[in-house]
Amino acid sequence: MDRYFFPETSRVGLPPRGWIEVICGSMFSGKTEELIRRLNRARIARQRVEIFKPMIDTRYSAEDVVSHDAKAIRCTPVSSPGNILLMTGDVDVIGIDEAQFFDMSLIDVCNSLANQGVRVIVAGLDMDFTGKPFGPIPSLMATCEHVTKVQAICMRCGNLALYSHRTTESNELVLLGETESYEPLCRSCFNLEHKK
Ligand SMILES: [Zn+2]
Repeated sequence: MDRYFFPETSRVGLPPRGWIEVICGSMFSGKTEELIRRLNRARIARQRVEIFKPMIDTRYSAEDVVSHDAKAIRCTPVSSPGNILLMTGDVDVIGIDEAQFFDMSLIDVCNSLANQGVRVIVAGLDMDFTGKPFGPIPSLMATCEHVTKVQAICMRCGNLALYSHRTTESNELVLLGETESYEPLCRSCFNLEHKK
């Protein structure tokens, strides 16, 4: 069993201390589900939890990122990572969803929060649709304590998928509200597609 799926267990009985967890992977790999799972467990432990996401991501309503039971976790859209610092007075755990859309200042923000004793859980795409490292996620992976890379299932062959292949012609890096324009592909199916 991957002990990083249960990072909280390493802290039981010890004084609170901050750290950073990154949950990365392609589209449809279950990053947000894993983020919510960890935040729900923190809530069960009676910790104060907040979720932030970039304002650019308008695909989901605030409710969609939170759990479905009655005690919803507040999800706040912010225009820049600096706003997260301003809006977190008294929290134990901070979740950040769709973090690839934030600028590179996210790395400093996450590290200052962790230095202040906050557990920071960041979920985001590690690669763009061309297979290149995406935004602040790769640097966060280098500077965090725990990385969990989740994988989708390849739409062509059923193997594990790590790429978010774009099925439309647009070359824009950020294509929002268009999840139907992507399919998860494994390495060999992605390479086949790019040889065409
Ligand atoms: Zn495949």
